[in-house]
Amino acid sequence: MAKKCEGHAVGIDLGTTYSCVAVWQQQHSRAEIIPNDQGNRTTPSYVAFTHNQRLIGDAAKNQAAINSTNTVFDAKRMIGRKFADPNIQKDKVLWPFKVISGANGEPIVSVKYKDQERRLCPEEISAMVLTKMRETAEAYLDSPVEYAVITVPAYFSDSQRKATRDAGAIAGLTVMRLINEPTAAAIAYGLDKRAGNCSAERNVLIFDLGGGTFDVTLLTIKDKLFEVKAACGNTHLGGEDFDDRMLKYFIEEFEKKNKVDISGDSRALRRLRNECERAKRTLSSSIDAFIDIDCLFKGIDFSSSITQAKFEELNKDLFEECIEIVKECVTNAGIDKRCIHEVVLVGGSSRIPKVQQLLQEFFQGKNLFKALNPDEAVAYGAALQAALLSEGFKNVPNVVVCDVTPLSLGICEKVDIMSIEIPRNSSIPIKKKTKYGTVVDNQSFARVFVYEGERARASDNNLLGRFVLSGIPPAPRGHPIMICFNIDEDGILNVSAEEETTGKSNEITITNDKGRMSAKEIARLIQEAKIYEAEDREFLEKDGAMNDLDDYVYKMRKALEDIEMDKEKIGDAIVKAKSLLDDHKEQHKKDVFEKNMKDLELYSESLNANLKNMILSYTIF
Ligand code: ADP
Ligand code: MG
Repeated sequence: MAKKCEGHAVGIDLGTTYSCVAVWQQQHSRAEIIPNDQGNRTTPSYVAFTHNQRLIGDAAKNQAAINSTNTVFDAKRMIGRKFADPNIQKDKVLWPFKVISGANGEPIVSVKYKDQERRLCPEEISAMVLTKMRETAEAYLDSPVEYAVITVPAYFSDSQRKATRDAGAIAGLTVMRLINEPTAAAIAYGLDKRAGNCSAERNVLIFDLGGGTFDVTLLTIKDKLFEVKAACGNTHLGGEDFDDRMLKYFIEEFEKKNKVDISGDSRALRRLRNECERAKRTLSSSIDAFIDIDCLFKGIDFSSSITQAKFEELNKDLFEECIEIVKECVTNAGIDKRCIHEVVLVGGSSRIPKVQQLLQEFFQGKNLFKALNPDEAVAYGAALQAALLSEGFKNVPNVVVCDVTPLSLGICEKVDIMSIEIPRNSSIPIKKKTKYGTVVDNQSFARVFVYEGERARASDNNLLGRFVLSGIPPAPRGHPIMICFNIDEDGILNVSAEEETTGKSNEITITNDKGRMSAKEIARLIQEAKIYEAEDREFLEKDGAMNDLDDYVYKMRKALEDIEMDKEKIGDAIVKAKSLLDDHKEQHKKDVFEKNMKDLELYSESLNANLKNMILSYTIF
């Protein structure tokens, strides 16, 4: 159902390292990527805290070198997970910011803001990035933005999806829908329409090489249904690894040239890394790139260059690993690689020419879809979906996206048996009702444990939540209990249990097991987000006032200096005039006296102007 949306509905690609926002432009019949206040089309998913302000995006990333413990990124790696999750435990070691366990076992980031400790959950950090994206869109469109479609990785679990939705709410957005990133990319290229026209199933491989993650998804599209046939990847392979390789190369070069090792200086490393990322981007379109940093370490400047060939050599094994993963994905899907109809490039790092070349070779010269910028394709597709879900848009290519469940969902039956209710790859939305029986006579309550995963033993899978159905009337064992699984269009799961014979139904929802926030908690965080925004505004206003004052002080100093300077010149001019009159009046003609007169007049004019300026400045103070 199309929603009546006041204002614009945008599409947001909330990335691990970079985020991107796009909007459907009716008059041009296409989506448009919205540049941020720095003019960049993607915004770092970074948030930073200092003793006097909060920074988001480019501003946060740019100061990471000097404020690493209070600069937070990778919220997407934390969102919807538990602190004890092995992924978080592994990543935690590498993060320069502090992560601790919260009251419900959720990860909490601890930073110093305005000289006090602040604790933030991943939803809040993602919300700050989303707020920046919302504000970027609002500034560009010059109107409020409330509605958004946000993208998530295809493998995101139920709790990761819910947490992302909560982040949207905290950012003041009404999240119309969450869609899978590979699906969004396919929509951006209109691949769904092709499938619709020929009504045959099409196999589409989405190659998403981003900043920190690599995802390969094999989708089949048929009748506007997007099914994930296989998904492979490496959660720690991407642009940052390529930056790392270049960083190591330059550290060695610096050491060779200057006989000093900079690897212990985190600020120097950050600065060099930023330059490496810039050089890497240049190498996607030129055969060489230059690095030039003043006072990199102990007052030593660093300038050097790197060729595309050298960059490729440094990353050879990583690029090859990407192709291996593609191979694995195609094999897992049980599809011959010649039967892949389209290959779509997604993620900023898929701009690297060598990566494209290797991929094209693997697919025996097949053309790659890269007409859109790969780091913008996901946001583009999301914007299209957002427009489609809002009322009043015409000429939007009509797609009805159907995603599928990434993992099987079920409940624990008997002793630790995973009883699957909704198998993986079921298209959503979906509803499934199953009758279960009580296990003992006169059983008055039933515990329901909800799991996701593919293992036979329930406890080997991921426990999503549990709840109790009480008030079952006395009856012999086998008394029916109806369990209902319901997944909505966002892929969000709701499970209920019902005792039907008495006609009484107990509405039960999953308890807060996975750290899913309550409405009250979300409301509190929305409130807090508003406080942050007010603080930011206050800071910016104060900053503006300080700038104005600084400007005036500068101007006044200048005026005083000018007068100082003029004092000498004026003195000289007076002496000169006096000596003309006293000692040399015979030698010169009329015009010499007139010129001296003009000079003195000019000095007196500028003197007046300067004095006026000074007085003006004083009156403003
Ligand atoms: P995410 O992985 O967070 O979704 P992106 O898809 O935007 O983010 O990818 C970001 C990565 O792409 C960064 O490592 C960035 O350096 C890299 N990148 C962006 N543009 C280029 C380019 N022209 N050449 C090579 N790498 C690029
Ligand atoms: Mg991405």
